[in-house]
Amino acid sequence: QRSPAALPLRCFSTETKKASDSVVDKHEFQAETRQLLDIVARSLYSDHEVFVRELISNASDALEKFRYTSLSAGGENLAGKDRPLEIRITTDKPLMQLIIQDTGIGMTKEELVSNLGTIARSGSKQFLEQMKGNQQAATSEASSNIIGQFGVGFYSSFIVANKVEVFTRAATPNAPGLKWSTDGSGSYEIEEVPDVELGTRIVLHLKTECREYADEERIQAVIKKYSNFVGSPILLNGKQA
Ligand code: ADP
Ligand code: MG
Repeated sequence: QRSPAALPLRCFSTETKKASDSVVDKHEFQAETRQLLDIVARSLYSDHEVFVRELISNASDALEKFRYTSLSAGGENLAGKDRPLEIRITTDKPLMQLIIQDTGIGMTKEELVSNLGTIARSGSKQFLEQMKGNQQAATSEASSNIIGQFGVGFYSSFIVANKVEVFTRAATPNAPGLKWSTDGSGSYEIEEVPDVELGTRIVLHLKTECREYADEERIQAVIKKYSNFVGSPILLNGKQA
């Protein structure tokens, strides 16, 4: 599983790379994010499958952003304009993984930090507001209803996963491949890695009790339910979903 990516880049190049680019960068989650992740991970939310909708909708947004940017001023400088714009979902039962990949706009390092390390999303902010002064709610029906009501976007991954890796490369010329990863506790790591396709690939390492989401049939059913309004093709294990 461990690729040469884990080796510091300075083994291969000299002064052109700063040491800070070549090692794993550790970041603490913003306090609010930590709080939210904790609640999501411990929640008894029964409607687990909403995370699929959230991740597909993010993939779809990223593809829309790519399309829009490529047609805007300066869009001719965008990288990867001849690729199919699509969402690829892969289930891996033996490894208990679900992978959701898009060929969209991707993220820079700064975007990873601000988009996945802090809570910008209004739904998530409202969610925390509702939870304030309601300490019991975290493990009760109440928190579940709140998760359902507001949605927690990307962070809903932690309803089913105990480790999440995001591989991403922004669609600008020479953008580096990046890996963001966390087990959902206090911190996350970012490092440069080779061979990342333009766009974003999210690898969910499923909790044992959520391994059903590594089943092709199960995911197919969830996609059917939620993906009516997705404007890009969705491939499940290489076939049109
Ligand atoms: P929202 O979609 O409401 O903004 P999310 O929590 O779902 O909130 O996502 C947070 C942000 O992370 C998004 O706004 C986007 O900037 C970034 N993001 C998430 N998934 C992707 C993706 N697949 N490609 C590019 N950016 C993404
Ligand atoms: Mg979203």
